[in-house]
Amino acid sequence: MTQQAAFNQGLIKFLQSSPSPAHAVTTMVAQLEEAGYQALNESEEWQLQPGQGYWIVRGGRSLVAFRLGNKPVAESGVRMMGAHTDSPCLKVKPKAELLRQGYLQLGVEVYGGVLMHPWFDRDLSLAGQVHFRNESGKLTSALLDVVKPIAIIPSLAIHLNREANKNSEINAQLHLPPVLGLDASDDASPSLVLREWLATWLRKAGHSVAEVVDYDLCFYDTQPPALVGLEQEFISSARLDNLLSCYTGLHALLAVDKLATNKPQAATSLLVCNDHEEVGSSSAIGAEGPFLESVLRRLSGDEQKYQRMMARSMLISCDNAHAIHPNYADKHDENHGPKINAGPVIKVNANQRYATNSETSALFSSFCDMAKVPYQHFVVRADMGCGSTIGPIAATKLGVRVVDVGAPQWSMHSIRETAGTKDAWYLGQALQAFISTWDGE
Ligand SMILES: [Zn+2]
Repeated sequence: MTQQAAFNQGLIKFLQSSPSPAHAVTTMVAQLEEAGYQALNESEEWQLQPGQGYWIVRGGRSLVAFRLGNKPVAESGVRMMGAHTDSPCLKVKPKAELLRQGYLQLGVEVYGGVLMHPWFDRDLSLAGQVHFRNESGKLTSALLDVVKPIAIIPSLAIHLNREANKNSEINAQLHLPPVLGLDASDDASPSLVLREWLATWLRKAGHSVAEVVDYDLCFYDTQPPALVGLEQEFISSARLDNLLSCYTGLHALLAVDKLATNKPQAATSLLVCNDHEEVGSSSAIGAEGPFLESVLRRLSGDEQKYQRMMARSMLISCDNAHAIHPNYADKHDENHGPKINAGPVIKVNANQRYATNSETSALFSSFCDMAKVPYQHFVVRADMGCGSTIGPIAATKLGVRVVDVGAPQWSMHSIRETAGTKDAWYLGQALQAFISTWDGE
């Protein structure tokens, strides 16, 4: 198997083992531990050793990992990569049980900008965090992934809505609650009480559970990721936005470590993966919160050193980009329609919806040149609004140089997205060139 094929197999494995942001963070932590990184606790004093790798998790769903360089950070800066752990999805409401027409359903809340149509007629499962009281009365939590399909959102037959292919509005409150089964009880209370069902499930998984208190659970598609296309040139999966970037950033961080075993890196390299990007990033663990800044302040020492460090730092914010769609090509500017498998996309927006400027764009393209990988540009049509990402938020909070880039993909925010087999690899090569060679100037 080529290095690139092994990289893509790793991506597929990562996507499949990460049905929720908490699972994505847990998967990344396992890889960091395996690579010799150590856990840091935000509530404890840190004693950092040059050359050592560390990771910090906040809220179970956001992660910062860094390898401290041998040179003082004030003199070498930090080479940062950013991504987000969350994807638009349907989250289970706190009092979720519904009984309609003799069917058991769960009420859901729409998380982020979900493209709703593709959620119908999928074999859905449930994953996330569950908080429970154990047999000795202590409040604790565990990850849950039901794995098997336990729910479906059936679409309405075309015979009952002849206009379905022209306009079929989806009312999230009425039309999205997934069906879990038939209700067997003969009174008005549902036979499924979710918290009891979760407690039973967790006990079977070996946890000591007296009572489930709360949860953060999302539905997900059980169809595994797949290579698609005559030449298997596409990767089709849920959550490519933006687990593809989390995986690629982590892979780059660890790959440079491996290259550097005999010659430790002079400068510090860092990966931040935030939750809550899809809902605007304003939270204690989102990119607008203080997580990254507090880690950077702690690793710099004092204010003078922090400011000197930041002046020599840069963040490559990685989030997937919109590839041009052959059936809807007029949705792109004629000169800025990125193609799948033609390299990472530099995202530009004069109104600062992307943080890229001509300096950071030039730097990123030079990393691509150094890595011998192609790159492309994206600017939204002048008559359309532009999306955004963690780049402008990090730039505003930290005052650091930022470039917004990403692998091109189709169907962003669908339950099934499609990217290329070359682009994540290309992006990873450019990231490696950045963290192993950039001199902070
Ligand atoms: Zn994204």
